[in-house]
Amino acid sequence: MPKYFVNNSAQTNGDYEVHKDGCYWLTLVTSKKDLGYHYGCESAVREAKKTYAKSNGCIHCSKECHTS
Ligand SMILES: [Zn+2]
Repeated sequence: MPKYFVNNSAQTNGDYEVHKDGCYWLTLVTSKKDLGYHYGCESAVREAKKTYAKSNGCIHCSKECHTS
């Protein structure tokens, strides 16, 4: 079960991206919040939304949870 993180800084469109541990883009994030272990990005995004209402899956590592 992979670990997920949410970027503490919003994207230019206001979205807070949720990443799976090991995602390249996660290495570029300076401040992130640990969301714990999740079977999939769906529950990880749900967890992230408790902190950031506009959470969205990363298009690279959590494409199935990415909404544009
Ligand atoms: Zn990612």
